[in-house]
Amino acid sequence: MSNRTLSLTDAVYEYLCDQSLRETPVQRQLRSVTRKMENSVMQISPEQGQFMQFLVSMIGASNTIEVGVYTGYSALCVALGLPEDGHMIACDINEEWTQVALEYWKKAGVAEKIDLRIGPALDTLTELEKNVGKDQFDFAFIDADKVNYDIYYEKCLGLVRPGGVVAIDNVLWSGTVADVSVMDENTKAIRSLNAKLHKDERIDISMVPIGDGLTLARKR
Ligand code: SAH
Ligand code: CA
Repeated sequence: MSNRTLSLTDAVYEYLCDQSLRETPVQRQLRSVTRKMENSVMQISPEQGQFMQFLVSMIGASNTIEVGVYTGYSALCVALGLPEDGHMIACDINEEWTQVALEYWKKAGVAEKIDLRIGPALDTLTELEKNVGKDQFDFAFIDADKVNYDIYYEKCLGLVRPGGVVAIDNVLWSGTVADVSVMDENTKAIRSLNAKLHKDERIDISMVPIGDGLTLARKR
């Protein structure tokens, strides 16, 4: 026993998944088709997906944003946590990967909830500021290009309502954020956003060591 978060061995991780995952067959199929694709490590883990589904239903979210869709697994999890009339604006630039997302959202019966916007996320978020306005969303998940994380955060923080949550993925970046000798652009961008969020008085914060690290920022 210890007062710090457990480092999961393979056996303990398997136990956690065995004893808590409630994936639907479509979620499982989507992970399995994605595993055979390029960049499949970008997909969030199933326990993180279930955590995000839990979180959105816990805060009663109905209006959400996703920045970085890939083959649609995280969006599917969040959509399953939304009410029937819930909604998501899903941003990505890649048509090929998001074709897979569209197919599986249909199979899972959540396609009507998700509005996929193909184009740079920055443009879509700017458009939302103009046409939907500030404080209109309950939840946003940021998981696209890391060098733009800071600007995605600023835009999403404006778009969510007080009490709403901005969730930021990969904040531990395989642990490299804690290794001062690693100075590539992605690591630096994540590290600098982490430092900024730590002292950001506009939010309450929890950095959760699930998946590759997930920061929850609750707008005050
Ligand atoms: N959340 C997804 C994984 C996202 S991977 C899941 O759990 O499955 C990151 C995604 O960001 C990729 O699909 C990539 O095409 C997208 N992306 C990269 N740069 C982008 C940009 N400027 N605007 C929108 N999407 C972008
Ligand atoms: Ca990610």
